[in-house]
Amino acid sequence: MSEADCLFCRIVAKEIPAEIVYETDRALAFRDVNPQAPTHVLVIPKGHYRDAAALAAADHGLADEVIRVAHEVALREGVVESGYRLVFNTGPGAGQTVFHVHGHVLGGRGLQWPPG
Ligand code: 5GP
Ligand code: ZN
Repeated sequence: MSEADCLFCRIVAKEIPAEIVYETDRALAFRDVNPQAPTHVLVIPKGHYRDAAALAAADHGLADEVIRVAHEVALREGVVESGYRLVFNTGPGAGQTVFHVHGHVLGGRGLQWPPG
C-alpha cells in the first residue's frame, strides 16, 4: 500500500533520500531531517496508514513491530539506559504534519515531562 503524494511512502520507495538507520521487511527507521534531540529517528511501517490508531486497527502485529524497531534503534543509538521518548503525534492539533504514521524516537538529552 502506498500513496504517490505521501512523503514517507516516497522515502520507502527510495524516491527521496533519507539517512536510514535500521530496516526490517515491514518497517523503516531514518533520521529526522530537523532533529529536536541528539537522537531523533522516525520509525514507520512501509505500508501507508494515516496514524497509529489506523495502523493498529488494520494490521495486527505491525504496530508491535514498529515499537520493537523503535527500541532496537534506541539500543543502537545508546539511549536505552538514559531513557528515550517514543511519540506518535496524532492529528494536526497535536502537531502531526505527515499523515503516514511515524514514531519519533527521541533521546540523548534531558527530556522534560510534561513536554513543552
Ligand atoms: P510530525 O510533525 O508529523 O509528528 O513529524 C513529521 C516529522 O518529519 C518532522 O519532525 C519533520 O522534521 C520530519 N520530516 C519532514 N520532512 C522530512 C523529510 O523529507 N525527511 C526526513 N528525514 N524527515 C522529514
Ligand atoms: Zn505514506
